[in-house]
Amino acid sequence: MAMSAMDVKRHNRVELFRAVLKKGRAGRGELASELGLSLPTVAGLVRELSGLGVVEGAGELPSTGGRRASAVAAVPDARFAVGVDVTRNHLSMAVVNLKGEMKAHERPAVKFAPTEEWRRRAGETVAGFMDRAGAPPGLCCGVGISLPGIISEDGKKLLRSHMLDIRRPAGIVLPLDAGLPQRLFNDASAGCLTELWGEDEPGSFFYLSLSNSVGGALVIDGRMVAGDNQRAGEAGHVCLRPGGSRCYCGKYGHFDAFGSALKLADPAGGRLEDFFARAEAGERAFARALSSYLASLALMAVNLRMLLDCGIVLGGYVGGFLGPHLPRLRARAASLDAFQGTADYLRLSRRKMEGAAAGAALHFIEEFIRGL
Ligand SMILES: [Zn+2]
Repeated sequence: MAMSAMDVKRHNRVELFRAVLKKGRAGRGELASELGLSLPTVAGLVRELSGLGVVEGAGELPSTGGRRASAVAAVPDARFAVGVDVTRNHLSMAVVNLKGEMKAHERPAVKFAPTEEWRRRAGETVAGFMDRAGAPPGLCCGVGISLPGIISEDGKKLLRSHMLDIRRPAGIVLPLDAGLPQRLFNDASAGCLTELWGEDEPGSFFYLSLSNSVGGALVIDGRMVAGDNQRAGEAGHVCLRPGGSRCYCGKYGHFDAFGSALKLADPAGGRLEDFFARAEAGERAFARALSSYLASLALMAVNLRMLLDCGIVLGGYVGGFLGPHLPRLRARAASLDAFQGTADYLRLSRRKMEGAAAGAALHFIEEFIRGL
């Protein structure tokens, strides 16, 4: 379908903003030639974007002969979005700006319950965090809420969550400033959004979310695939060892029983960083637990690779600690591979912490930019 003049203008405005955001500071002429627009068109668009406060004049660029080109710069902190990752015992909150930079994060203990009391407490906690982070509701594009469960297609209801003991669809809206859009996300899908953010050609990959529960999200040709029941990518409930340890869903031998972050954190007093420190220091029980964890993870990764033939991104809480162990994990996966002797398709998530909270926030940043 042909684009109307309005559509073309909006498209140009969005592309111009993305270009300035990427460069930080750029000359008008440089932007014009890069985007294939005339100088007056660029000047007009820059004026409109300045009116919204998202770009500003940034002096002059050094002369390359002739008149000096006036520069324009992005104002990444002109807007922001908030992400809240809800787990059984905590709220992880993050503020990200237009550049996708995390400006603040906090992780207070707030025990989940599907009650009005929890909603009130969560709402107060988020509002207090925004206040401390210097992020007023008036400049906020929205609040994304990540949950360990299945989310309705419209992002309004938590359909089911074993982790949070939700068996019937529940609407979750926090009592925040009226007018602040809110949307629910599955935690793995939210983490996956951080991998898609700012990628010109995201291609196809599987995002494996190794948090207190294991989840995943499948991206094909840059688009997340939801499945018939919004359950695509539920890697935690793939059976790796029939009759093995009990999964929280009640069945036995599912990957979650081997791959959950709790499996590592629990023996270390609940702190994942302590588990890795002690395993890396060579404490026997911890080193052994890590080896067995990596063995299960390698098996899961190879199975995914055989099914999907794409890159596999290791995210979630555990993903942030796997850096030093990636060579070992790759070697193990390669030894199980039918086709190749390397497993460099296994890579770490770009976000080392608060991936789910950041991803849920980035949804609103992307929406804001598209709507410019
Ligand atoms: Zn299960």
